[in-house]
Amino acid sequence: MKKFLTALILLSVVSCSPAADDQSARQGWEDMFKPVETPTEESSDPGESYDPESGERWFKMIGIICCWTDVAIRSKLDYIDIAKRTGINTFSIYNCDKESATWKSYTAECARNGIDIEFEEHMLGWLLPRDLFNKGFDNDGTNFNDYYRMNDHGVRINDYNGCPSCPAALDTIRKRAMIIGERYRSTNNKYYCWLDDSGDICHCPKCKDLNPADQALTFENVIIEGLRAVNPEATLAHLAYYNTVEAPKKVKPVEGIFLEFAPIDRDHFRPMSEANASGKDARTHGQYLKALADNLKVFPVETAQVLDYWLDCSLFSGWDETNLKQVPWNQALFEDDVKTYASYGIRNITTYTSYISANYVKKFGYPDCIDKYATYLRDFVKK
Ligand SMILES: [Zn+2]
Repeated sequence: MKKFLTALILLSVVSCSPAADDQSARQGWEDMFKPVETPTEESSDPGESYDPESGERWFKMIGIICCWTDVAIRSKLDYIDIAKRTGINTFSIYNCDKESATWKSYTAECARNGIDIEFEEHMLGWLLPRDLFNKGFDNDGTNFNDYYRMNDHGVRINDYNGCPSCPAALDTIRKRAMIIGERYRSTNNKYYCWLDDSGDICHCPKCKDLNPADQALTFENVIIEGLRAVNPEATLAHLAYYNTVEAPKKVKPVEGIFLEFAPIDRDHFRPMSEANASGKDARTHGQYLKALADNLKVFPVETAQVLDYWLDCSLFSGWDETNLKQVPWNQALFEDDVKTYASYGIRNITTYTSYISANYVKKFGYPDCIDKYATYLRDFVKK
């Protein structure tokens, strides 16, 4: 999630063919297309129940998020085959060229196999274009600079996010969300227009008493209006991540906003159930789980989802694809985390698998951690 390309780039029609973009492709096509050994576990019956009491599986969504270059070289690592074998039912793929024949063929095959396609992205920088700054006044007489956030020195600045107390800014965002609804149409009616990654919020007099989640939710409540003008069934994520982990206090979500809880700065080597563990930020796992519980008082638990980082090779590689690190898969930690999240009623899970690509297979062999992730969720029975 951090250090990924901006939505502005994603929205442009950049060629994302594997030959053009994948570094491993440049290192030798012959080697890339040698078949690799993959597990041969029998596909499960999608209709089979793993919970004898409820008659349905606990986890409704078993997702992965990665780059088009991670999935496009299928001879080395075929995410569609993995999904068919293990129960992954949702792909979020970024940096794809939606007009290309390869993409269209790929997503058609996903559809035939019951795999939803969605797009999880940081998008506020596109929804509120930065280049309106210092352009004077709009047609209604609002200074364009008031669209943007005020920093903690009292100065309007167009670096991150915007001012959620500016009606004209919200109008702009609502209109541009309609374009997102067209270009990023998902197959599961779920949309993701996250705030700018790690960006600060507005400190103007009208916004100063709104916490970061309140400010995000103010934007999201109008983004979903734009999306629903295109797709009346659209739902939209409220990302609880970085500075929006704490629940909103003053703003209420409109119908269709769902919680996405993404504890990126947790300790990735200790389970969430260890209350005193803490990762990159000062927030402990106990505080993360308190925030999750608080968020679930605001957002419906039925649609809430967790985005965690168990398979995020990009994170473990320091977002440097030239220095790939093996995913430090820990089955016991993962199972403990899943039980913890399920105990809060979470039934939708996804994880980044960024950088788990053909290059990864070449360096480390087949990543059976993806199979272990998905099959555990598929077969999970809540006690
Ligand atoms: Zn403001």
